[in-house]
Amino acid sequence: MSTGTVAGHAEPAAEPSAGPAVQGPAHAGGALGAVALPPRAERAERAQAAAERLRPAGIDAVAVTWVDNAGIARVKAVPLAGLVHAAEWGIGAAPCFDVFLADDTIVTSRLIGGPTGDLRLYPDLDRLVPLAAQPGWAWAPGERYTQAGTPHPGCQRLFARRMTGAAAERGIGLKAGIEVEWVVALAGEPQEEPRYPTAGPAYGMHRLTDLSDYLRELLRALDAQGLTVLQVHPEYAPGQFEVSLAPEGPVEAADTSVLVRQTIRAVSARHGLRASFAPVVEAGSVGNGGHLHLSLWRDGRNLARGGPGPHGLTAEAEGFLAGVLGALPELLVLGSSSPAGYLRLVPSHWAGAYQCWGLENREAALRLVTGSTGERATAANAEIKCFDATANPYLAVGAVLAAGLAGVDQRLALPPEFSGDPAEAGPGTVPRLPASAAEAIAAYRKSAVLREALGEALYEAVLAVRTAESEQYASATPEQLVAATRWRY
Ligand code: GLU
Ligand code: MG
Repeated sequence: MSTGTVAGHAEPAAEPSAGPAVQGPAHAGGALGAVALPPRAERAERAQAAAERLRPAGIDAVAVTWVDNAGIARVKAVPLAGLVHAAEWGIGAAPCFDVFLADDTIVTSRLIGGPTGDLRLYPDLDRLVPLAAQPGWAWAPGERYTQAGTPHPGCQRLFARRMTGAAAERGIGLKAGIEVEWVVALAGEPQEEPRYPTAGPAYGMHRLTDLSDYLRELLRALDAQGLTVLQVHPEYAPGQFEVSLAPEGPVEAADTSVLVRQTIRAVSARHGLRASFAPVVEAGSVGNGGHLHLSLWRDGRNLARGGPGPHGLTAEAEGFLAGVLGALPELLVLGSSSPAGYLRLVPSHWAGAYQCWGLENREAALRLVTGSTGERATAANAEIKCFDATANPYLAVGAVLAAGLAGVDQRLALPPEFSGDPAEAGPGTVPRLPASAAEAIAAYRKSAVLREALGEALYEAVLAVRTAESEQYASATPEQLVAATRWRY
């Protein structure tokens, strides 16, 4: 678990929405005009300048990723000479990617699916960076638009940007960070059980010593890519580690989580290792989380401090957290995508299996972190613990913003906090979060807030993918589900 501290200044407000406000609890989420492409000439000029910078650095190609609704990062790459064209016209990408499952099965949904059509994937040049552990390669996150240049309603990163804009319209800035946990194993065949390069104990210096060069190379690579690491440490499960990064804007934090995992994979491969970000790597053991830290800011002030609410929360921060807490069952569809997530989300595994909140409570799905005396104005934040790395991080942050802003608009209050392990409070005292993908999907189906914020096309594509994966593994044993997902994420 990381400290999840935040820098002492507010996230600059996102550009105000240029599009018409759509009515509803998360109204600005629907404003596609807010995410219009900049002019083509400007994109070309910037890409040209970037290519001139990258060429002498020995970069030959640029990988442009997006994350699909199954939580898998997919990629199209262009040679460096093609970067300007990619920035001007985008890279071809089929719409059916929105209905891929984690095992590459392709399903369909009412508004998205089928073999016809094409989208354009545009690299975000602001995040273009050489990949330190993949010499010759640079990376940029992509966003998808139609051939006519309008935002693709199924684009998850544009959704996250729209929701950040919806917060900015209310004068709320955000800082976010996604903790990355992974299990490192010796490279092997996909069907093989993991064998670990260290037998050291949980949080043990022994593990750090065994993997000293590996972790050093990882830290150097992350640093070379402009990322600020807060800490790295061995975690609880065999071969498990965690790295946490400095907070940044929600979209940037989602990009960072993609880049960090990609970097961990690449560094692992260079050391004859492989990494798993799957929720559970060995049935029955503690899993890999993807905890999301968030703080809200207004005019440079942390909204978790100086207010009349519990532990000094302002009314806005309390409303936001209450909105998130109440929506956690449906948010799990976006924050813990795979049916395998429910093997991790069990009591007394620090995964936050209960729908409650608590100060520094690691068994609560929503953990309030105030930080140390003296540092609280900058450090206070909330951690959503029930999420994992099968989430599409753009969907996860966007959906949390939608639920939180609905809570702000409705001026919701938090229920009493819970201290201690809810598992010991007796059955029924604290509600359990969904115990299966099917239960979470049932909650998602009823969520007007998420439907409104995501828009019909994205909402339904997510539903199609989640439902198909839930049915795919409905009768799988935990061992089968773990084996099917272990090396996919
Ligand atoms: N690995 C735990 C999880 O599944 C989290 C451990 C921690 O609190 O950092 O989320
Ligand atoms: Mg951890």
